[in-house]
Amino acid sequence: MSTEPRTIRLRAPDNWHAHFRDGPMLDFLVPVFLDSGWRRRIVAMPNITPPVLTGERAVWYRDALLARARAHDPATTFEPVMTIQITESTTGDTVSEARALGVGLGKVYPFMVTTHSGNGVQDYDRIYPALEAAEEVGLVVQFHGEHPSDDIEGLNKEAGFTAILDRIRARFPKLRLTMEHITSRAAVDWVKAQDENVGASITVHHLFTTVDDVLGYSKASGGLMRVHCGCKPQPKWRDDRAALNEIALSGHPRFFYGGDDAAHLRRRKENEGSACGVWNTMAALPLLVDLFDRENKLDRLDPFLSEFGARFYGYDVSAESLTLVEEPWRVPAEVEAPGMGDTVVPMCAGETLKWRVQA
Ligand SMILES: [Zn+2]
Repeated sequence: MSTEPRTIRLRAPDNWHAHFRDGPMLDFLVPVFLDSGWRRRIVAMPNITPPVLTGERAVWYRDALLARARAHDPATTFEPVMTIQITESTTGDTVSEARALGVGLGKVYPFMVTTHSGNGVQDYDRIYPALEAAEEVGLVVQFHGEHPSDDIEGLNKEAGFTAILDRIRARFPKLRLTMEHITSRAAVDWVKAQDENVGASITVHHLFTTVDDVLGYSKASGGLMRVHCGCKPQPKWRDDRAALNEIALSGHPRFFYGGDDAAHLRRRKENEGSACGVWNTMAALPLLVDLFDRENKLDRLDPFLSEFGARFYGYDVSAESLTLVEEPWRVPAEVEAPGMGDTVVPMCAGETLKWRVQA
């Protein structure tokens, strides 16, 4: 009997939704992504300050991310995927110009639902000129799928958003779009019912947690509300989590990984008003390997991480690989954020996971 630990070799995974922030936070986060196994393509979300609204700013942001990655690892093949935020003021020309500069994606936030979304959309008819241009030039549009209306309560906002997407699809049938970080059976069913122009990303935290983890009803929460599990869209019910697990494990080619890695300083999370977002960058790959392994579906993990998204967004599948080893690995309780006088608390802080990413 061999005592060698089991290993799994994957193609280098892509991450189709992540937040790198800017300034010292960017300097801190880029190396953590690379060291945690996210060494290939990562979509860099545009909600920094000021936001990425044009192709020019997207190029600036990409260069800043690349410079930081190369300072950490001169041989890196890291490829930040550029996106611009589409707001009610975005013109068709802005979209076409961004596309010409190599921007492949646009991101739409609903008004005031998540971090830095004060410029988000209230009236979706007003982004139709931008969507028309996106459809024409082949820019894929990622939607944060929560309805901005106060009349729709928080946990119903995602299901409610499909009505907005139905109207957009009827008007722009050739527009390629995704519903980001889906959390509900309603969203899974809606995306499944669409054609090849519609995809969805799924995060690791929504595969593992439910609203009980946030509100302090789950066993793991020990009766305490857990702000570090809180994000938008919030995790939903067990049945919704089951639907996400089923579809991710099923090998459906229009559902792929997008982590929505969203680091916030501890003082912004553990506060009277707690910022939304889960910092899952370090724990994600070990958790996903464990999940797919337990379900005897390890062969489906590689396409979920590195093939389906690439195909949907029109990229080659990465040639590089990544190895994980079945060895206990303890997630730090918190990680010092240099120059910011604070720490960031990761998903599964202080827990021991079964797998670790090989350096
Ligand atoms: Zn996000």
